[in-house]
Amino acid sequence: MPTIAAIPVLTDNYSWAIHGIDATRIIIVDPGEAKPILNYLAKNNLKLDAILLTHHHWDHTGGVQSLLSHFPDIAIYGSKLDEIPGITHFIKENEVIILENLSAPIHILAIPGHTLGHIAFLYENALFCGDTLFSVGMGKIFEGTATQMYASIEKIKNLPPHTLIYCGHEYTLANIRFAQTLDPDNTKLSFRKSEVEKLISKNLPSLPALLRTELEINPFLRCDKKPILSALKNKGYTGDHAIAALLFLRELKNKF
Ligand SMILES: [Zn+2]
Repeated sequence: MPTIAAIPVLTDNYSWAIHGIDATRIIIVDPGEAKPILNYLAKNNLKLDAILLTHHHWDHTGGVQSLLSHFPDIAIYGSKLDEIPGITHFIKENEVIILENLSAPIHILAIPGHTLGHIAFLYENALFCGDTLFSVGMGKIFEGTATQMYASIEKIKNLPPHTLIYCGHEYTLANIRFAQTLDPDNTKLSFRKSEVEKLISKNLPSLPALLRTELEINPFLRCDKKPILSALKNKGYTGDHAIAALLFLRELKNKF
């Protein structure tokens, strides 16, 4: 079980710090801002080995240039399709990153939809999936098609249920409020709400989220399930395909 810490950046983003076998050396996922990362490194007397980038949006990459000026020799991994300045290693679907200070390889999954080059990093049971899947939510479809996003979500759904979702934003409570309008009788969803309220009141992250739980409470993973499908129909959905249902659900969330 790797040690992974959340570093809050900007308003509601998380950068993730993966501590290696030598726990004083870390890898950062999605440095949206440099300062909180530099503070984390200094406060804990750590060295930065590498940066992993899930997609090109500024709130996930804004700290890259400043971190590079402090640590010019670090490796930076990202998708070629997303063209992020500073990348030293372009990576794609099914490739594997091997870092000497980690106990296991990192597997790359292409998960386009939010952006065309969006990727996820799977390290042991930890999935860093940026803005594709959130706890009880899903990212906006900015660059890809609904078909691409659906395939990306299916790919995540099919990972082992003990996978832990390390996503890019603290959106969980707002996502739960939306989910409850569609799935009001879901007791596991109500339970997650009280759990998240407690964490947030203590200023703690609601993440990572367990995939097994997400499969039971996240409406974007349950478009084909009866309570969600009938709620969508009540709100005007007339389609007959899971991709259309996912898109309708995302559009409902956009208006919520
Ligand atoms: Zn994004």
